[in-house]
Amino acid sequence: MLAYLRQRKQLVPASCITLAFTIFSCMWLLAAKASAIAVIVDGETQFLVASRQEVLQTLTQMEIDKEGQVGFDLEMGNEVEFKEVFALSSKLVRAEQLAALLEQKVDFNAVATTIMVNGQAVVSLVNEDEARQLVEQFKGEFGSVDQGEKLIQLGFEEQVEVVEERVALDQICTREQAYDLIKTGTLNPEKYIVQEGDNLWLIARRNDTYVDEIKKSNNLTSENLSLGQELIVVKTKPLLTVVAQVEGEKVEAIPYETQVVVDASAPATVRVREQGSDGEKKITYQAVKKNGVIAEREITSEEILKNPVARVLVKGNQVVQVASRGSSGISKGVLDWPVYGPISQYYRGGHPAIDITGKTGTSLRASGSGYVVSAGWNGGYGNCVVIDHGNGYSTRYAHCNSLNVSVGQKVSRGQVIATLGSTGRSTGPHCHFEVMYNGSTVNPLSVLK
Ligand SMILES: [Zn+2]
Repeated sequence: MLAYLRQRKQLVPASCITLAFTIFSCMWLLAAKASAIAVIVDGETQFLVASRQEVLQTLTQMEIDKEGQVGFDLEMGNEVEFKEVFALSSKLVRAEQLAALLEQKVDFNAVATTIMVNGQAVVSLVNEDEARQLVEQFKGEFGSVDQGEKLIQLGFEEQVEVVEERVALDQICTREQAYDLIKTGTLNPEKYIVQEGDNLWLIARRNDTYVDEIKKSNNLTSENLSLGQELIVVKTKPLLTVVAQVEGEKVEAIPYETQVVVDASAPATVRVREQGSDGEKKITYQAVKKNGVIAEREITSEEILKNPVARVLVKGNQVVQVASRGSSGISKGVLDWPVYGPISQYYRGGHPAIDITGKTGTSLRASGSGYVVSAGWNGGYGNCVVIDHGNGYSTRYAHCNSLNVSVGQKVSRGQVIATLGSTGRSTGPHCHFEVMYNGSTVNPLSVLK
């Protein structure tokens, strides 16, 4: 090339200078702009580096460090690509800056196992075995059978799947958290601040929960509350429903009937002429239980072991006026709640009562003092108690599991008269609570405390 230029030197000096300049420029540019690597995260170019190896090593080290911190497998949640470019060496990110830069650009996800209920992700754990055990543990706990029962089939009402998934680190739960979540339906229970005049019963009722639940979730040993106290009010709605089909056999009481003999000359108190006694029957049944509560029950056979003996009472008909409350009629706060729990049915046409739900076996208390005027089986009401409070009021407690009182017995306010159940025409455990005033039903909520 130089020889050629030299030969033509005298002929084209201007062209020669231009050519030389061009060649010099190209060489200078090539020397300054080196080959570099553009780092692209999720489709966007972030910065330039000298080698892709540096980036890959840094990312690997970051993953190892983070895995060490959390104690389980991680996976990068971003797509990192590289592209060869030419760049000035001053524009390249130095190796020691790389980790800090990448820290801002990439996230790591956990390789988790997610429990799906009806196609919806409910909770994620890192360990697949733990997730599967959790589901089985729930099934075992909520599908346990009572004494004398045989389990026929056990399953979930919902479609439950355990799938592998990548989730953000903050979505990972411990086994305990996950179990509580499935059991109560919430990870962040609502808080309630105790106000003037509150008590646990009222708080439970307003929040559709149970006193026992509140005591349990707040570790309360007594029912005393202080003003401004914060309470966790967990609304327990399990995310899974264990359906157990069972066959059972048990001995049930046949409640005795009560015959009342009216004696015109006697005062309006009740005397017992004949003590009654319950009979006994052995029943076999098939039942469907949902999370431990009987949803359906069918009696398949019944054998009477002992016949009941009727109770005979003598009642006078001379009315004694007790504590007149004036002609204004009903008044708020006359009666106490027989039990506290969410109300599933309110007082309305066709349902002259409130249905207070609760667990089978919970104590039912007399709303006021008075005399038991009826206690025993009463058709659709199931096991049922009626108390005459004497001041125009009487109260009925239906669908009881068991009865603790008998006709003619004097009871005091708050005394346990029965336990909550689901006998008679009932679809689940509750107390059908009726209040009668001067012979007609009134809305219990208008007279309860
Ligand atoms: Zn009812």
